[in-house]
Amino acid sequence: MDFSRDLICENLSVCGDHLLFAGQDTAALAEKYGTPLYLMDEERIRKMARIYRDTLAECFGDKGHVLFASKACSFKRMYGIMAEEGLSVDVVSGGEMTTAYKAGFPMDKVYFHSNNKTDADIELALDYGVGCFVVDHPEELTAISEIATRRGVTQPVMLRITPGIDCHTYEAVNTGKADSKFGSAIVTGDAANITWMALTSTGVELKGFHCHIGSQLFDSEVYFATVDVMVDFLKDMKDTFGYVTEKLDIGGGYGVRYTANDPEIDIAANIRAVAARMKERVAEAGIEMPHIYMEPGRSLVADAGLTLYTVGAVKRIEGYKNYVSVDGGMTDNPRYALYQSEYTVLPATKMTAHRDMIADVVGRCCESGDIIQPDVKLPGDMKRGDLVAVLTTGAYNYSMASNYNRIPRPPVVMLRDGESYVAVRRETYEDIVRLDE
Ligand SMILES: *Cc1c(COP(=O)(O)O)cnc(C)c1O
Repeated sequence: MDFSRDLICENLSVCGDHLLFAGQDTAALAEKYGTPLYLMDEERIRKMARIYRDTLAECFGDKGHVLFASKACSFKRMYGIMAEEGLSVDVVSGGEMTTAYKAGFPMDKVYFHSNNKTDADIELALDYGVGCFVVDHPEELTAISEIATRRGVTQPVMLRITPGIDCHTYEAVNTGKADSKFGSAIVTGDAANITWMALTSTGVELKGFHCHIGSQLFDSEVYFATVDVMVDFLKDMKDTFGYVTEKLDIGGGYGVRYTANDPEIDIAANIRAVAARMKERVAEAGIEMPHIYMEPGRSLVADAGLTLYTVGAVKRIEGYKNYVSVDGGMTDNPRYALYQSEYTVLPATKMTAHRDMIADVVGRCCESGDIIQPDVKLPGDMKRGDLVAVLTTGAYNYSMASNYNRIPRPPVVMLRDGESYVAVRRETYEDIVRLDE
């Protein structure tokens, strides 16, 4: 059985029949920590963080910055790792902000996004001393201005702009078009209006502009288009209002390999190409080079993650379909249910066996849509007690997990230098009922 095609990231390998992750035996980890289990390869996270950080520094010197879009994977230890690597972070809620704060993350390096910040969110962010708000729309700007003015503080803000680019990815994650729920569109004049508003409001100081176009992108075409539109906009704001932009954030979005069909992407080469385009356009426009920010989420953490499950029921419906049920499901990985996302699913303890059964790998929720992945090739003798690994689950899995059916969430175990440690402990049934009066 040739399994080499399945090893879609450098942190995967096989020893005997067993799948290794970050050089460690997945079966031994399942034995030690139980299943379902999220594993995360700390070295891989650090490696990706350094690629972004060092390449942006190489291209823009001290004007190149990387923000981790922490909604991809948010728990205290993750903010600790990002702080150690010198990254800043995005947060989109009071909960993410509080997690960063409790982790001791430097709050002046926190950027607060979200398309609907409540007054309570705004107050909390001011309490924590969040470095910058990324303001979505005029009403929100008014609310921030009023609250900051009342407190006698001046809050640095950036404005979320929709450059009007259709990025050909899923509609549900397509956020850069003018009709998006996020930001203020250039084409409608709303972007210029909110800029003027920010320049003339009390309690806020305009630092620049932000945009985020798409996700799971495998080349830089979308970024090139973004750079072109945004540099024009910066020039327009300079010509119209005399405003010199200090910070420009061009968003996240580079893709990762969920399956062997996804291309491998050279992030550093892509960043260099985007930087070259930026320098060219900025020079043509005759404006000052702003500080440049990129804010990857998925590509920093996705392939640093792997989920392990234990097989329960194996159902063979003769002439119809096979099901392999696992001890987790849409509660720990809702992405197939939400977006029909593809995943690579491997028989972690039968890696060398011939895979002659096609089965849907399903979870244990009372929901026929509770599918981890349909039509997976597995050994025909898969049975109760076997282990199954789902690859590339480091982004938008733990952070999207739920307690549907009152299923406790799995722990997150970090792997580093041949050792492992718990970053998030397993939820217990006591945790499940702790809020019930
Ligand atoms: C989700 C998000 C990101 C990260 O996107 P990825 O595709 O995970 O890299 C960056 N910026 C904003 C504003 C986002 O909402």
